[in-house]
Amino acid sequence: VSKKRLCFGNWKLNKNPKEAKDFIQSFLSKVSDEDLRDFCIFPTDLLAHQFSGFEIPWGGQNSYSENSGAYTGESSPETLKFLGADYCLVGHSERRSFFNEDNELLNKKTKNIIEQGLKPVFCIGESLTEREEGHTKAILQSQLQEGLKGVPFEKVIIAYEPVWAIGTGKAATSEIVAEVHGWIKDLCGEAKTPLLYGGRVKPENAGELYEIEEVDGFLIGGASLKVESFLEIHNKMKEQ
Ligand code: PEP
Repeated sequence: VSKKRLCFGNWKLNKNPKEAKDFIQSFLSKVSDEDLRDFCIFPTDLLAHQFSGFEIPWGGQNSYSENSGAYTGESSPETLKFLGADYCLVGHSERRSFFNEDNELLNKKTKNIIEQGLKPVFCIGESLTEREEGHTKAILQSQLQEGLKGVPFEKVIIAYEPVWAIGTGKAATSEIVAEVHGWIKDLCGEAKTPLLYGGRVKPENAGELYEIEEVDGFLIGGASLKVESFLEIHNKMKEQ
């Protein structure tokens, strides 16, 4: 069986409704129906309606551990599902660091996402200091153990995103990605958990990174904002 080539784009807090609409139209005019299943776009919730009626898989960037109640400002996986989402990110490093989301909360969020019928894309990653001090595996292990406590590995997609490589000029080397991904796949055991790499993935480095056996695709920030670079990354995977 050939491995997956998932091309997931995290738009973060980017694009207004017009820009989103233009992207969707241009993207759909360039991608084949068959390839479409490899993609997912994570827009802000306020752009979700732009995706309705189209075949592009999309997901939430964040969702709360509850589906209703007095939680001002939150949104629920139940509503994301209702609106047509297939996936939801959970534990992106920006959520962990800027919004203080800890493994315990992320565990509740993950379970709720699964209960509502969405696929969680569970993000893990070490900071630069943690890597330099030799704590990479301990950090990743606690993120996985605590964040996915009681969650079968087959229910999730895991995205390894070293924090020091996100939105910086520094992509992780193939050696680092191969080592960490191999180690995560071992932890997952029999479960065929798809493993994404994220952190400065661009058309220029996508081919080399995808050569790594344990890389099933990418979670892409900056390069997912332009149709050309987003599709080019997918093409690099197809060429392998
Ligand atoms: C991300 O935030 O998930 C990400 C990988 O961003 P970038 O590709 O811009 O480094």
